[in-house]
Amino acid sequence: MKKMEMLYQGKAKKVFATDDPGLVIVDYTDNATALNGLKKGTIEGKGVINNRMSNHMMRLLEQKGIPTQYVEELSDRETLVKKVKIVPLEVIVRNIAAGSFSKRYGVEEGKELAISTIEFSYKNDDLGDPLINDYHALALGLCTAEELETIKKYAFAVNDMMKEYLLKLGIILVDFKLEFGKLPDGTIVLADEISPDTCRFWDSETHAHLDKDLFRRDLGGAEDAYQEVMRRLMGE
Ligand code: UDP
Repeated sequence: MKKMEMLYQGKAKKVFATDDPGLVIVDYTDNATALNGLKKGTIEGKGVINNRMSNHMMRLLEQKGIPTQYVEELSDRETLVKKVKIVPLEVIVRNIAAGSFSKRYGVEEGKELAISTIEFSYKNDDLGDPLINDYHALALGLCTAEELETIKKYAFAVNDMMKEYLLKLGIILVDFKLEFGKLPDGTIVLADEISPDTCRFWDSETHAHLDKDLFRRDLGGAEDAYQEVMRRLMGE
């Protein structure tokens, strides 16, 4: 597989073309942003951890029946994935109140929600990824009603699988963000990444943050926390 020109540079990852038009290479950097890109920094070693951990989760989810864009891990920071058209939605699933949910609805961080819940943001940096509802997503033509149903079904299934898997490793899955993509034939697949950048992980004993909140909130220790999550998941 030949790595060719860079197609896109995101906040934490770069995407490269390959000699196969159906495949691209994702390259994970150590760059970290928060507050919609206003806060910038690096978390040393994060790219390697996110790449390896995300691939680990994607392989697990594939085995359990969730279609993903994952193809093959090429190196510590590089992964071959199917080229998709990203559905411009941030799909957020929550089990415990935290972050923007706590702020918006005045719920103490850490309160278990009566049911697991889902919300959507319109992926648009200029607008600051505004919260939208199902009807807004359809009115904006971001996806079809059928695609939205598939996305919701997959998102809750991912939550069930990850919650159970992580709890056995002493990690509480508080909330997380998913993105979905469309293959040329229209199939919806899980895309982007699953990592401490995109999930809130709390230690089940101490409730210590093991995720990007350490960076977002200037608490320190992000490097060690990412390493700890990797160690629990992959034994290293
Ligand atoms: N999240 C993300 N990217 C975003 C916004 C949120 O990966 O641009 C993840 C975040 O890591 C958390 C979940 O989505 O696990 C819910 O985030 P929330 O809406 O509480 O936003 P925040 O408080 O981080 O602004």
